[in-house]
Amino acid sequence: MKTNAYAAYNATDLLKPFAFERRTVGAHDVKIDILYCGVCHSDLHQAHNDWKNSIYPMVPGHEIVGRIVEVGAHVEKFKVGELAGVGCFVDSCRTCPECRAGLEQYCTGTHGMSPTYNGYEQDHKTPTYGGYSTNIVVDEKYTLHVSDKLPLEGVAPLLCAGITTYSPLRHWKVGRGTKVGVVGLGGLGHMAVKLAASFGAEVTLFSTSKSKRTDAKQLGAHHFVLTSDPENFKPLAHNFDFIIDTVSATHDYSPYLDTLKTDGVMVCVGLPTDPISAPPFSLVGYRRSVAGSMIGGIAETQEMLDYCAEHNITSDIEVIPIQAINQAYERMVRNDVKYRFVIDMASLKNAPVPA
Ligand code: NAP
Ligand code: ZN
Ligand code: ZN
Repeated sequence: MKTNAYAAYNATDLLKPFAFERRTVGAHDVKIDILYCGVCHSDLHQAHNDWKNSIYPMVPGHEIVGRIVEVGAHVEKFKVGELAGVGCFVDSCRTCPECRAGLEQYCTGTHGMSPTYNGYEQDHKTPTYGGYSTNIVVDEKYTLHVSDKLPLEGVAPLLCAGITTYSPLRHWKVGRGTKVGVVGLGGLGHMAVKLAASFGAEVTLFSTSKSKRTDAKQLGAHHFVLTSDPENFKPLAHNFDFIIDTVSATHDYSPYLDTLKTDGVMVCVGLPTDPISAPPFSLVGYRRSVAGSMIGGIAETQEMLDYCAEHNITSDIEVIPIQAINQAYERMVRNDVKYRFVIDMASLKNAPVPA
């Protein structure tokens, strides 16, 4: 049975219809009928080969939610008919110290984790194809439970944008009394604002877009700083405990460092292609750190989904048919997204299967 999808065939052409076969459902696998898939800036980076590691044809998409339609003989956690989610990876070695500690995203096994697309299964031969498709087959260990309390289309982006911001906020213990800066109000940035505010932190949004001031406040930010004017940084010297930088494009990290308190931490989750540089004096003077963080492990992703269900947190989205994916990419490049595109996969199910 062919699975209908959209794929990037190379770094420059538009995404086009594609068809391929998913594996048959193994004893520990579930098959998910994909209902919605979020559109992450990483999809665009990889479709365009920004990170110089792209494998084509590529079916992007790692913010997947849908319904279980088949379960393998030994599946214990899921039943047919239940909602389920898949995030940024579909397998890992399961035995390295990171995997055993629930940090599968940092798997140090021979092949590392298997990303949901633009990578290989643990055999390092079989390419993985992501969520811009009608269904996916995944080992139940790498599949998440999704609550039916929240609108499903708003839940999809939690599988990447949600966990990528939740994990560092939790790791660095952001909560009541913490002063947090969020850099960039896009898919990740708006989730960082919502989550940090819900943890009780005082949140400042740094943005290049004057027009996002009102939205930032509505999403939960207490303060807004327009970054185009360097004067706006001056009153903020030695102000923040923690900054999360979600910007997708090359930019200067150094003005933010001076806004950190002693022992303050700036965590980069955005992945522009140019190196991060920092003036040593800005770090040395107050024992400041620059760190990185990548998505989250399976247990933490489940914790995040449960937290969001309990606190009624979803992503602010614009639903599109798959046929509008190329326009969505163009709008993402122009920074015209409020705040995540989500593909309604019904649009693909009704399309003819390409030969
Ligand atoms: P997005 O929705 O496009 O948001 C990026 C935001 O960055 C924009 O909304 C904009 O915010 C700001 N921005 C864009 N161009 C800029 C420029 N030239 N200078 C300064 N700011 C600019 O992207 P996203 O999906 O949130 O992803 C953000 C980045 O995180 C991407 O690089 C993506 O690959 C990466 N990512 C990393 C992980 C991880 O695990 N670490 C996971 C997912 C994604 P303002 O308008 O407010 O300035
Ligand atoms: Zn992503
Ligand atoms: Zn591992």
